[in-house]
Amino acid sequence: MPRCSYTHETFFKYSLSAYPHDISNEYDISNQCWISDVGNFGSKESPEYRCVLHAPQDKDPIDRTDWRIAARKSKQSEKLRALLDEWSADNKSYERNYFRNAFVLPGLNCGAINLSGNNFSEGIIFDFAIFSGDVTFSSSTFNADSSFKSVVFKGNVGFDSSTFDRDACFDSAIFSKDVSFKSVTFNNNAVFGDATFGKFACFNSAIFSGHADFDSATFSDPIDFKSAIFRGRATFEYALITNIVDFESASFNGDTIFASTVFSYGAFFKSTTFIGYTTFSSATFNHETLFLNTTFDSTTIFQDCRFKFAPQFHNAKLHQDTDFRGAKFEDKTSYYAPAAYRTLKLAMGKVQSRKEEANFFAYEQESLRHQNDTPPSVKISSALYSMLSDYGRNFVRPLGWLLGITSGFMLLYSVLLKIDVKPIEQYPFVIQFTIEQVVRPFNIWTTKGAEKISTMIDGNILLFQSIATVQSLLSITIITLFLLAVRRHFKLS
Ligand SMILES: [Zn+2]
Repeated sequence: MPRCSYTHETFFKYSLSAYPHDISNEYDISNQCWISDVGNFGSKESPEYRCVLHAPQDKDPIDRTDWRIAARKSKQSEKLRALLDEWSADNKSYERNYFRNAFVLPGLNCGAINLSGNNFSEGIIFDFAIFSGDVTFSSSTFNADSSFKSVVFKGNVGFDSSTFDRDACFDSAIFSKDVSFKSVTFNNNAVFGDATFGKFACFNSAIFSGHADFDSATFSDPIDFKSAIFRGRATFEYALITNIVDFESASFNGDTIFASTVFSYGAFFKSTTFIGYTTFSSATFNHETLFLNTTFDSTTIFQDCRFKFAPQFHNAKLHQDTDFRGAKFEDKTSYYAPAAYRTLKLAMGKVQSRKEEANFFAYEQESLRHQNDTPPSVKISSALYSMLSDYGRNFVRPLGWLLGITSGFMLLYSVLLKIDVKPIEQYPFVIQFTIEQVVRPFNIWTTKGAEKISTMIDGNILLFQSIATVQSLLSITIITLFLLAVRRHFKLS
């Protein structure tokens, strides 16, 4: 009796534990398909026997009319369903799981199929399959490992309210249309690494008890993770999310890794709870980012993150060990930026993270300068504050300014004295006079001070007094900024 000539290493891998059981070596230790209901897709002289699920997509069999291309999709669905029913009934006759066999059929081709409400009592291995129609496994239970590795789902896919008792593997799977895992329960690991979600992906209220692995997955349309529960580790490392992702009211209980994840559109973490260690290190947020009412109960890392829009953390509860080192906040212009940075400033102040508090204060001030309703006087003083001491973050800069301004005034006094054609020995006087305006401001207005300069200057004393006053005022301002910056830098509490 001929047997389907399709070969795949997966058959060999599972050959000792796979259906059909009790095979008297007929199907054993082989990488060949086990189905013997076949058609000839070759010629009479050199036949190529294939089952309907492994039939060449562009050929009709020469020995049967019921498997013609036009009608084949429904035949495939019928066959797959019949085989699964047969397998299921067969497994039921075994009382102990130990003797049950996995259903292994890699590389199959199938049209639309509805397997809702099924119980898969042993493992199912559909790796590298192509489902060209809608596939539904809603409310099904998978008692053993289920593998859909590299499967191509061309239609809509539904796993709503299904339960996976053991590992579910969708590694490198391609979901071309909408996919729904709403209220699904993964009692062990759920692997979606390198998977491609071409359309809407719904994981609303899903429960992930083991490792939820979405590393390097690609999402092109909106994703709904609202109210999802991640009990174990959740990883989205290097995932590429090019549309809105919504984690509203989701809870992450284990380590949560969004390292190097790219959020190209809105990233919504409203009322989300992060209980374990959480990292967004080197993640990129290219659009609106909301952490409203979010709770971070453990170490949270935003190191080297890039926020193109000001992230909004209003009413969020940040952990004391929250790290924004190297994070880039590029948005200084949007209308909500000042409030967003103010919130982060207050939050960082609350956990006594002074350096980050100072940074967010600077971002807040910088954003305020770009708001239309900010008065010009505030904008100017803010710009000066930025220029003179980088909003109190740099205490060396004011010293530089003091040195520069003092030198400038010294030059100005020299020029003025030269106009008065004074001899060169006036210079020690100029130096002394300039420094005096820094260390003894306004002394020039006393009778003694005025007398002193009148001995050196023939002309207008009032002009000198006025310029000296400007110098004193500027110096006092800069020295004050210097002291404030030093105080801020070394403040312990
Ligand atoms: Zn086959």
